[in-house]
Amino acid sequence: MQRSEASIHQCRGPNSWNEIEPTCGGSEQSPINIAFSSAIPAQYGPIFIVNGDSPPENLLMVNNGHTVVVSMEGDRIPQVSEDSLNATFNLAQVHFHWGSNGTHGSEHALDFKRFPAELHLVHWNTKYGNFSDALQKYDGLFVLGVFVMESKSDNPYLNPIVDMLSEVRVAETNTFRSNSGFRVNDLLPKDLGKFYRYRGSLTTPSCNEVVVWNVFANPITASKEQLSKFQELLKLDGTPLVKNFRPLQLVASRKIYKRSSASVLISTLFLVVFCSLVTVYE
Ligand SMILES: [Zn+2]
Repeated sequence: MQRSEASIHQCRGPNSWNEIEPTCGGSEQSPINIAFSSAIPAQYGPIFIVNGDSPPENLLMVNNGHTVVVSMEGDRIPQVSEDSLNATFNLAQVHFHWGSNGTHGSEHALDFKRFPAELHLVHWNTKYGNFSDALQKYDGLFVLGVFVMESKSDNPYLNPIVDMLSEVRVAETNTFRSNSGFRVNDLLPKDLGKFYRYRGSLTTPSCNEVVVWNVFANPITASKEQLSKFQELLKLDGTPLVKNFRPLQLVASRKIYKRSSASVLISTLFLVVFCSLVTVYE
């Protein structure tokens, strides 16, 4: 069986990806450390997700030897939009990054803190018609990054995903569910108002610098037992599929922006005061 190009690159290790794929040595690579203190406050609108509460007809899961990829089929594919992006993005797939037992597994770091896991919801810009074409455009992809924090008890919202993992333990196997009850909103933090945003790349070859990253400040949770189900998956060579995160890349001259819910609160307060004044003077 012929190995994919990505497999060959992965086998060489992240530090030599750029020898074969020059883009991987570019100046807008991901992941990065997000330094809270130097992030620039920005007035972004809230993230708006269409069909986030609608379970897809079919849920597909693949262990590709590097991660586990979840995709959805049917006519209720989630979409994301936000005013400043002036675009609508369709969800292509969700995948995960994790560590080994008790170690860090997230790709991004928050003030150099790394979380046990991170999930990526990869969306493509609908103005380009399909994922492959969007992958070649500067504003082609919008990825929601969600940190996963370890909790004492299970996160029941993750169970539809966790329950499928044992069926894809071996690399290059897949499984699916119909009407699983899974909702994409279950993978997101409750507060979508706080996030960081910057320009970056795919974190695996070919490292295309086509991603607007939107990393949420608040994590979701998973128990040690739930995280261990990811760590039981296997790579193509039969060894444990763990620590599937890329090392941190240089921020260089890029700007990292932050949005806090407080900005919404302030504008809401202003509206309340303004409306009260209008009422008084009417
Ligand atoms: Zn990823």
